[in-house]
Amino acid sequence: MTEYEAVIGLEIHTQLKTKSKIFCGCSTEFGNNPNSNICPVCTGQPGALPVLNKEVVNLAIRCGLVLDCTINKKSVFARKNYFYPDLPKAYQISQFDLPVTQNGFVNVVLPDGTEKRIGITRAHLEEDAGKLVHQGAEGIEGATSSHVDLNRSSVPLLEIVSEPDIRSAEEARAYLEKIKSILQFADISEANMEEGQLRCDANVSIRPIGQKEFGVKAEIKNMNSFRAVEKAIKIEIDRQKQVLSSGKKVIQETRSYDEASGKTVSMRSKEESHDYRYFPEPDLLPLIIDDAWIAQIKKDLPELAEQRIARYQEAYGISAYDARVLTLDKAVSDFFDTTAKLYSGDKKTIVNWLTTDILGYLKNENLEIGQTKLTPQNLVEMLGLIDNKTISGKIAKDLIGKMIATGESAKKLVESTGMQQITDENEIQKIVQEVIDANPKQLEQYRSGKTALKGYFVGETMKRTKGKASPQVVNQLLDKLLG
Ligand SMILES: [Zn+2]
Repeated sequence: MTEYEAVIGLEIHTQLKTKSKIFCGCSTEFGNNPNSNICPVCTGQPGALPVLNKEVVNLAIRCGLVLDCTINKKSVFARKNYFYPDLPKAYQISQFDLPVTQNGFVNVVLPDGTEKRIGITRAHLEEDAGKLVHQGAEGIEGATSSHVDLNRSSVPLLEIVSEPDIRSAEEARAYLEKIKSILQFADISEANMEEGQLRCDANVSIRPIGQKEFGVKAEIKNMNSFRAVEKAIKIEIDRQKQVLSSGKKVIQETRSYDEASGKTVSMRSKEESHDYRYFPEPDLLPLIIDDAWIAQIKKDLPELAEQRIARYQEAYGISAYDARVLTLDKAVSDFFDTTAKLYSGDKKTIVNWLTTDILGYLKNENLEIGQTKLTPQNLVEMLGLIDNKTISGKIAKDLIGKMIATGESAKKLVESTGMQQITDENEIQKIVQEVIDANPKQLEQYRSGKTALKGYFVGETMKRTKGKASPQVVNQLLDKLLG
């Protein structure tokens, strides 16, 4: 049996965080009424001329800097010709042989903790297309009418193309997460996948281990979550292995990932760049960037993830691993920063709650922290209740899920559900005594030297109090009563 390895490169389209579009003054706001943010330029009317938005270039330079790319002093816009109903000009203004920035890299921490450098081939500017809305039955096939919404047309995008350095679906996900984090921290993009601000295509091929030449690749489109990217690539690698091991050949094509069936489906044979008949955009001058402009952008860079990681380790004594987990998502890191300012106890306590219970909950529910009602104030209040022994850590673990789901304050939830910890020694002593009386056999064994059975009595007491007894008090009482 031939052993194969995967060769993967990602093309990430990210929406730059500007108020207006790339070549006109129309708003980029998401969720407005269809065709309310449009003008002659972004709807491709004859004679309308594009004017480059300076803020778009600022953000492209910033992205080049944080991805360790070369910023090209001269780059050129090019027309990419193709027809699609949501593209009224029948061409997209993009960049081709002279992108604004190229030749960079990012260091990605893989799930096993090792670090890997992934090369960035280039990042180029382009405009987005509009959106088709199909009405009627589900899917294009059953639609009774189709409409075009051009609000997205000419929204500024930066396409970040990686080198084919990625070797597994897990690595692809880790790389995408890293890029998202970089874009958010550097304030280049909100990188919200649900709003289409971060989209990703994957070029996937496989080759026998040890072979240098690349295999034939398929491009996978239509993946709109980290989970989908990881799953789609895994499925595609398996599909190609099956094709090759059955003696057939992988063909170069574009495939779409169908989340419902968990399959990739052929869309069309893959176009080559010459199919697009690129040529320099005659309505725009070459983009010239001088050193002073780059220096200015460098000076104004916000605190990046790497700097936050260092700050967390230094100021709070947090491990490098935890600091990295906290900074995978800027919203989580901001949440931590606010909580740390409000909470006077050990900041590592916040880290524990955030990285295990809270992020675990979000992962299970496929939510981002900003989509929940949990606030730093609520979390600090809950930590206070643990610190003053109103609730046990175990009860807090049940509480946190309710707090995230409802946005209710910890105090209110504790009062309304009677989850207060029992700290009254007399009350606990009564229950401990009941447990001892109910288990004479275990008591005898304990007294004859099997002291490990203490854990059994602790467990029984906690069961009877539904986890509400203070474990500390239970332990002290057992030491006294077991003799
Ligand atoms: Zn416009």
